[in-house]
Amino acid sequence: MAPSGSRSIKRGCQRVLYWIPVLFIAVIVAWSYYAYVLQLCIESIEDTGEKVVYLLAYHVIFLMFVWAYWQTIFTKPMNPLKEFHLSHSDKELLESENRGESQQEILRRIAKDLPIYTRTNSGAIRYCDRCQLLKPDRCHHCSVCDKCILKMDHHCPWVNNCVGFSNYKYFMLFLAYSLLYCLFVTATDLQYFIKFWTKGLPDTQAKFHILFLFFSASMFSVSLASLFIYHCWLVCKNRSTLEAVRAPVFRHGTDKNGFSLGVSKNFRQVFGDEAKYWPVPVFSSLGDGCSFPTCLVNMDPESPTSSNSASKSSAEGRHQFPSKPLRESQSRLLTSTPSWAENESAADKERKGANNPGMTIENEA
Ligand SMILES: [Zn+2]
Ligand SMILES: [Zn+2]
Repeated sequence: MAPSGSRSIKRGCQRVLYWIPVLFIAVIVAWSYYAYVLQLCIESIEDTGEKVVYLLAYHVIFLMFVWAYWQTIFTKPMNPLKEFHLSHSDKELLESENRGESQQEILRRIAKDLPIYTRTNSGAIRYCDRCQLLKPDRCHHCSVCDKCILKMDHHCPWVNNCVGFSNYKYFMLFLAYSLLYCLFVTATDLQYFIKFWTKGLPDTQAKFHILFLFFSASMFSVSLASLFIYHCWLVCKNRSTLEAVRAPVFRHGTDKNGFSLGVSKNFRQVFGDEAKYWPVPVFSSLGDGCSFPTCLVNMDPESPTSSNSASKSSAEGRHQFPSKPLRESQSRLLTSTPSWAENESAADKERKGANNPGMTIENEA
């Protein structure tokens, strides 16, 4: 009783401590609102036109930023569907076996009916002991959340949440709007920051808010810009932060471009088909988070380019995947919908060919 009681108290304390970074950000944002709206715009800016334009633009950006931040924090990460969990009988069977190879045999049998294409480094089926499930592709167990998270990107202390399939779009928008927020504050505060040093500001406490507003906004701009650029690159490459550190392993081996479908489709996988939803923090990502199309797995034997690479593959005899039924989400990404087909240029198609992991491997070999 005592050990489990102290463990739950420890976990409770940890849970409270995890909110400190979020609270820190919230305090800074609240102060920046006070400093910008009251001290800069209302107290210091004399020109009414300038005041109104600044306040209007500021509030639009502020609202989008807070909305995206809220969504990133409070959207629950998605966990694997029921079909990836082991049934009661399978669990018992797995526990009764103590040899790794026989356990793998059981897991392989279960995985046969699931859209799982990635493996561990040693080629074994990815299994989570703690959640007792077969990990879907791109799913990882988060030690902080103590759960398997679909398309886990990373556990972010600044939002006290796992960034994954369910909130990656929100996280991207949070980075974009917070960067825009900082850049806007820096740019509009600049002339008053200069006035501070040229003694052009009245001697009130507002001048210190203006000074610190400029310092903090410009410093945050630099760090946010680097993080945002990095994540834009990840979206274009269709990689999670974890996959950028360690490339996913497929049956044919490690392949860092395994999930890439070309820049346009990679972007749409995160932001969705409809452009009107791209800048809005509402869910519009494609797919179910459990299965992801890969160029290799779902090569269409009818298409001339893929049949070419498919025959090359079979000749080498090591890029073969079992054909498994495609989910609707996968098919939507792979078979170009009319709107995509129209937009897809020849160059785009060529790039897609270059991104075909099968081809990449053959070129490397
Ligand atoms: Zn797990
Ligand atoms: Zn987590």
